[in-house]
Amino acid sequence: MDERWNELVKPRRCNKCHGALKTIEIGKYRCTKCGEEMLDNYGKVREYIREYGSAPAVEISEATGVPTSEIKKYLQEGRLEYVPRH
Ligand SMILES: [Zn+2]
Repeated sequence: MDERWNELVKPRRCNKCHGALKTIEIGKYRCTKCGEEMLDNYGKVREYIREYGSAPAVEISEATGVPTSEIKKYLQEGRLEYVPRH
């Protein structure tokens, strides 16, 4: 995995209390102060697919706010378990 790239999209601070974040799993973080859980773009896309199953990139983009170009990049990199629906 490209750790450098992952570093770029990773949230650095809790958006509630600005506390430091601990990585729980890839794409998912928990605030060490208030316990708030946060997802980065990859985490949002993965959670969406977990909950709703595979969907076209456009649909995932509309639901998560993550650009389709980024979603397609995750797919190309094989980061998502994804079966497109046609
Ligand atoms: Zn917090």
